[in-house]
Amino acid sequence: MKRPFVVVLLYLVSAVLCGACASLTSKQENESPLRVIDVHTHADFSGKQEETSGILQTREQFVRELKEAGVVGAVSHSPQGGGSIDDSLKSEGVIHCFGVGAQVTPSKVEVGLKSGRYGCIKIYLGYVHRWAYDNEYRPLYRLAEKYDVPVVFHTGDPYSTKAKLKFTDPLTVDEVAVDFPKVRFVIAHCGNPWHASAAEVAFKNPNVYLECSAFLIGDLTKYSPEVIDRHVVQPISWIFSYVDDPTKIMFGTDWPLVGIKPYLEVYKRAIPKADWPAVFHDNAARVFKIKR
Ligand SMILES: [Zn+2]
Repeated sequence: MKRPFVVVLLYLVSAVLCGACASLTSKQENESPLRVIDVHTHADFSGKQEETSGILQTREQFVRELKEAGVVGAVSHSPQGGGSIDDSLKSEGVIHCFGVGAQVTPSKVEVGLKSGRYGCIKIYLGYVHRWAYDNEYRPLYRLAEKYDVPVVFHTGDPYSTKAKLKFTDPLTVDEVAVDFPKVRFVIAHCGNPWHASAAEVAFKNPNVYLECSAFLIGDLTKYSPEVIDRHVVQPISWIFSYVDDPTKIMFGTDWPLVGIKPYLEVYKRAIPKADWPAVFHDNAARVFKIKR
């Protein structure tokens, strides 16, 4: 009679202890803040208010928004031609993409990649009237492979009447994804509104990733919940489901066109909570090699 009693007692004690452990672990998980990387920002500080969002384009405002949203790393896309970049943002975990303009200068891009000043290449499809697979761009893909950095394409609506839409359909990213299988390509804006093209290109190619920034821009409090749901939550949710691989989608805003925290809160609603660490941090850390 003694032996079963001891076994039952041990079982009860371990059950109580394990229960305590489990509740402690889940409490810690609940309490630990989500670490976020925003892979689409424009850290150009004119000091003026952005026209659509009203956000003040200053370093102080940018850093404040990063901290408010729990952002531990970000990717800043420099304007076409490179522009001037704020190297001091490195301390905030910000890396810079070299923005390629109509004049393609691989030697200049290589200097930036070699020195580590730039950690990615941004190609402005549509703004520059050239296909992703244009021969002018091919030396840049070879550089991306050599320096192991990703290439980001603007895709989808260009927010400019001078851009040409035929170049911005993300379907053409498939061409370079196949020709340069060792390069990581990122489809910015998930091709909005060509979500199906973007989702299929990422689904089919192991080296293509997505970020769904700027589905709506401006002050999000001015949109009805229905509009936010239809134009941001539902499309991202569909893309996530179609791609069927939580390692393929990242978080991006397009700051200062939209506030970081408001966009993050909406984006979270489209992604299952279990996949938040991957989508909001880990995938970007891996694709852009951001270490913090
Ligand atoms: Zn942008």
